[in-house]
Amino acid sequence: MNSWKCAECGYQHDAMEPHETCPSCGKDCEFVDVTNYVPKMDRTDRTCMCKVCGTEVRVVNDGGGFLKCCDQIMVLK
Ligand SMILES: [Zn+2]
Ligand SMILES: [Zn+2]
Repeated sequence: MNSWKCAECGYQHDAMEPHETCPSCGKDCEFVDVTNYVPKMDRTDRTCMCKVCGTEVRVVNDGGGFLKCCDQIMVLK
């Protein structure tokens, strides 16, 4: 089973093949395969900054956790 998402309106459905016509738009929309799509923010290569001391850390490998400094969660710059 694959997951398909309408590129126009975001309508999503599970099927082996995408609909020809989007039930939501009623048009021949383009459907994107989002089967393995995980809506998660990729922080790799972004810089995190401590609001307290100003230390900046580059995220080289997004492990999904939060960086902490001065007992505060560092914010993305
Ligand atoms: Zn649509
Ligand atoms: Zn700090």
